[in-house]
Amino acid sequence: MSRLPKLTPRALEILACRDTPEWHSWQWQVAHTLSAKEFGIEDHSAFPLRVTPYYAALAELTVAEDPIARQFLVAPEEFLPDDYSPDPFGETAHAAIAPGIKQRYSDRILAMMNLTCSTYCRHCTRRGLLGAACRADLDTLVAAVKARPSVREVLLSGGDPLLLPDEEVLRWVNALTALPQIDAVRLCTRTPVVLPMRWTDALVKALAQSGRVWVQTQFNHPRELTPEAEQTAARLANHGIPVSNQSVLLRGINDAHETMATLCAGLQRRRIRPYYIFLCDPISGINHFRTTAESARALRQYLLNHLGGLACPRVVADLPDATHKTDL
Ligand code: SF4
Repeated sequence: MSRLPKLTPRALEILACRDTPEWHSWQWQVAHTLSAKEFGIEDHSAFPLRVTPYYAALAELTVAEDPIARQFLVAPEEFLPDDYSPDPFGETAHAAIAPGIKQRYSDRILAMMNLTCSTYCRHCTRRGLLGAACRADLDTLVAAVKARPSVREVLLSGGDPLLLPDEEVLRWVNALTALPQIDAVRLCTRTPVVLPMRWTDALVKALAQSGRVWVQTQFNHPRELTPEAEQTAARLANHGIPVSNQSVLLRGINDAHETMATLCAGLQRRRIRPYYIFLCDPISGINHFRTTAESARALRQYLLNHLGGLACPRVVADLPDATHKTDL
């Protein structure tokens, strides 16, 4: 494995399609995702390398420690022993309502709608779990919500729910927004960042119908705010779908104060609310991304000093057994 991968002819051929019409098709992007093989690197990880051509093309692959490349290239540090658990939140054995359906807070339920992603983020909280997790069943989810009158929000997560076809996404969203007790259905997806062409006009219009769909995504670096991402953000905002952002604080990627301030300001400019900055979860295999609580506090103070409230996210940790996000 290397931080400076050597692209194979097939990878170069795929990336050379940047100026072709098919590049803008999300199905083409998913069908041509790149794996470790295309980067000429060995991948022994149970959590494989997978990246869309679109996101791979944002990386400077000849630059060591490139902040985009580091988010998808497998790094040797992932295999070093550490003191963290592969499943700190007990997601495989959690007190689940049913397979793939989990309730941590009284007013919301989370469902694993899909178990794959178009791009695997090396810092993913579920990096050790996606293969072992179970996909939720929609009828079971609807019954679980109805049986719990305190639930007013459903988070559709994964994996990435937006990797499913439009009909499937709409089947789930419509079944849930039809429940009078539901105020919001949150689609938790990184597609605005790694596959922005997924948000076609037809899909966005259909999702906007209920007026109760929210999108939650994860921009981590200002270079991810491309014209394509901007177009997607505008389409969602213009149709009245609120988008909020939850960055993960990643050492050497976005922990420089100016980098994060630029990201937050750029998000606000594109009508994406900078909502949270999360410290890395206590999961094994991501120690090389971990920052200290001290540096996160310093970052928070810098953002408070330099950004207005609407552009200033909360800096939080998600701790196992906590009943809410913990502010730093
Ligand atoms: S898109 Fe989300 S679930 Fe998928 S690898 Fe990235 S962080 Fe994990």
